[in-house]
Amino acid sequence: MSSKLYFRTIADLAAALDAKQLSSVELTQAVIARTQAVEPRIHAFNSFDEADALAQAAASDARRAAGQSCGPLDGIPIGLKDVIAVTGQPLTASSKMLKDFVSPYDATVTTKLKKAGAVLWGRLNCDEFAMGSSTENSAFGPTGNPWDPTRVPGGSSGGSSAALAAGEAIATLGSDTGGSIRQPAALCGVVGLKPTYGLVSRFGLIAFASSLDQIGPFTRTVEDAAIVLGAIAGHDERDSTSFQAEIPDYRAALTSQRGPWKLGIPKEYFAAGLDPEIATAVEKAIAFYQSQGCEIREVSLPHTQYCLDTYYVIATAEASSNLSRYDGIRYGHRSAVGKDAVDIYAHSRAEGFGPEVKRRIILGTYVLSSGYYDAYYLRAQKVRTLIRQDFLHAFRDVDALLTPTSPMPAFKIGEKADPLALYLCDIYTIGVNLAGLPAISVPCGFTKSGLPIGAQLIGQPWKESNLLAIAHAYERAHDWSAQFPIF
Ligand code: GLN
Repeated sequence: MSSKLYFRTIADLAAALDAKQLSSVELTQAVIARTQAVEPRIHAFNSFDEADALAQAAASDARRAAGQSCGPLDGIPIGLKDVIAVTGQPLTASSKMLKDFVSPYDATVTTKLKKAGAVLWGRLNCDEFAMGSSTENSAFGPTGNPWDPTRVPGGSSGGSSAALAAGEAIATLGSDTGGSIRQPAALCGVVGLKPTYGLVSRFGLIAFASSLDQIGPFTRTVEDAAIVLGAIAGHDERDSTSFQAEIPDYRAALTSQRGPWKLGIPKEYFAAGLDPEIATAVEKAIAFYQSQGCEIREVSLPHTQYCLDTYYVIATAEASSNLSRYDGIRYGHRSAVGKDAVDIYAHSRAEGFGPEVKRRIILGTYVLSSGYYDAYYLRAQKVRTLIRQDFLHAFRDVDALLTPTSPMPAFKIGEKADPLALYLCDIYTIGVNLAGLPAISVPCGFTKSGLPIGAQLIGQPWKESNLLAIAHAYERAHDWSAQFPIF
């Protein structure tokens, strides 16, 4: 455990708060001071409001003093990716289009965190409209990786992973459409959980690709992920894809669910293109589970080679539709030069969106257009079904799959200029979104040059309890999460 408050876990801080060894105001002050000290080098935040955070912390302390603590998140500073709505706070999606937009309402996850007593702290940088894998597509400038600020923190939720790794928050939320929680978690050496599609409400999340988007936590430990997931999961009538399910006690399941488990190793995930140091670290994680009596089986996900293409048809199609609402009329950036309505739309969108967002809208409009719909969109939907069947087939024999999270460690800011090179960052994460599955990235080592490596565990639908228990068993026997970037 770190002696620095801002590097400690929710579980540990909640115990200290309950024991009155610490107040939320002290903790929040420590996080604010740390943020002020490191932000010039990291730039994880688009905005934050110190006075508002301290007022929330004081309210939390008053609740605890009155014996009315709301639980382990009461008084804990949690940062939200700048695509999740908080009443009265800016909501930009890291886009010029929404630069001056202030949210009039709370996302459901925000309401739930408020009910749990969390101190909502800051708006975290990301790729514009969550499109990217490096946070370099933000209209407000890139975020640095705390392990080496000349490198990317991953993306699109790079502000969420970097802020946590740098001690600028105790936990954060991100969104994951094709890997945007797991990949930045891996590149920053923290835990990132993408829940089953439908477990966490998307109401109040700026939509990118609605059949893939899911909100989830970044935390220092698997136990903290279980705590945050328990607070944000659950049915919401305002999200029509939200699932009616009893939410179990994920934290209790960490120790009540015991192995040995059967783990599948998809052979397609260890092919050419995987960094050898990452392969070695993940193989060590496999060997660990084997040493604990788990049965390790090679499995095949034969349609893996089509995941990237399928994703970039479906995600761009949905994005082109979702982003049509930014017309410069109802909200967002409005051009000063338009002469009539159509001209205002065109200029506002041309000025407000960055190049990657435009590329996706054009691609998505193309695959949905008459004459191409069947050849691209409809076909991609069929391949998506095959990809999901691959996973469900594998799950007949195993409890979870173990893979690398990212094929490469954090790369230099500016290194990958070609969009296709960036799209390849997600080859191990995208299939999970297409299949709607839960998956978690846990730290599993460092490269020789000191960059974090993540292993991904992919679980069966709705079996987060099991997935978290499997991840926890690994984490308990290793001390990766007790290492912090020094700068
Ligand atoms: N990197 C992928 C993309 O650019 C995934 C992004 C995400 O999960 N939001 O679309």
